[in-house]
Amino acid sequence: MKYSYVSHLYCPKCSKTYSAEEENHLCTCGSPLLVEYNLDELAVHFTPDVLKQRAPDLWRYHELLPVQHKENVVSLGEGMTPLVDFPSLGEDMGIPRLLMKDEGVIPTGAFKARGAAVGVSKAKELGVKELAMPTNGNAGAAWSLYAARAQMSSTIIMPIDAPSITRNECALSGANLFLVNGLISDAGKIVAEAVKEKGLYDVSTLKEPYRIEGKKTMGIELAEQLNWQLPDVILYPTGGGVGLIGIYKALQELKQLGWISAEQKMPRLAAVQSEGCAPIVDAWKKGEKESSFFENSETIAFGINVPKAIGDFLVLDAIYETNGCAIAVKDEELLEEQERIARFEGSFVCPEGAAAFLAARKLREDGWIKEEEQVVVLNTGAGIKYPDTVDIEVPTLEPGDSI
Ligand SMILES: *Cc1c(COP(=O)(O)O)cnc(C)c1O
Ligand SMILES: [Zn+2]
Repeated sequence: MKYSYVSHLYCPKCSKTYSAEEENHLCTCGSPLLVEYNLDELAVHFTPDVLKQRAPDLWRYHELLPVQHKENVVSLGEGMTPLVDFPSLGEDMGIPRLLMKDEGVIPTGAFKARGAAVGVSKAKELGVKELAMPTNGNAGAAWSLYAARAQMSSTIIMPIDAPSITRNECALSGANLFLVNGLISDAGKIVAEAVKEKGLYDVSTLKEPYRIEGKKTMGIELAEQLNWQLPDVILYPTGGGVGLIGIYKALQELKQLGWISAEQKMPRLAAVQSEGCAPIVDAWKKGEKESSFFENSETIAFGINVPKAIGDFLVLDAIYETNGCAIAVKDEELLEEQERIARFEGSFVCPEGAAAFLAARKLREDGWIKEEEQVVVLNTGAGIKYPDTVDIEVPTLEPGDSI
């Protein structure tokens, strides 16, 4: 058996194909590239039973990942995050079968570790020595730390008001870190120029094809954890949309492999954004295939502040194909939801995760989610990475006071 059944890269827009054994970024037509596997060949050799003997990390699915030689794997043990039921919050929302997939407990405290683990491993396999990326914080933190583990250098540019913890993670890893007085799109322009001038390996969102493969493991895990029975709805806080595209890709591959039976319905995928940055929601409401740049975007859910995603057409496609939806929520309300989640279930989720829970509540209120449906919310990171979003008055005592 082979370690990976990767076949080649292909363009979802113009169908042109590329090799997965040399450096490739975007298609000549400008579209991101996706990874194709020899699924028919794999289906003959492999059944999900084999997984039972494997370690609980995302490399348990190595046949469906792009790294061809095990010695190139760069891992901190990422993956197989808990799928937790939320009965009290679910009852409060009128969704008794509410579940959270908790990415807050993964190395680096956000699901970006999945993309970084697979992306850095594949970069190592391709002989990359120095990578570069713009980031809103969590991706830069994950990629710079995994790059350090791979003895690779990294150049990271992030907005000056990105969460300070993510800045510290990058700095501590030894990355060449810069802050830009602007948005991630401004950081992106500076990175693009540096990539051209200095020959750095560009790992901007979807400009390298392998990050999505790491993120897709959320979908495979979810299916495995539910014993290959798909939920009715999956809600995902959407910035670049890589996780949502990845989950959709994973479920399609599992169907092709026959691990998910053909007659099972795909979950309806819901892309959740903040009202302060909702390009996908605007496009979906108009039935469009691509989004427009969202001017002056602003939200405390920093990970989903992406005014124009390069893979927007893939996100919208996944929503249309699954009869999903896109919904925007208010920052003030998502903070209230974050507090309710902690009080009902003891979980301190990140603002992006709270946005997705709030969206579940709204979609239940307007009947888009039915009471009996099984609903999975992705909490994409740990609340403790964003200490400044919580503002609760606490009484102070002097020594000797009583309460
Ligand atoms: C990056 C990020 C997101 C958005 O992820 P995409 O897959 O790029 O849409 C959501 N939540 C958190 C915490 C993030 O860091
Ligand atoms: Zn193309």
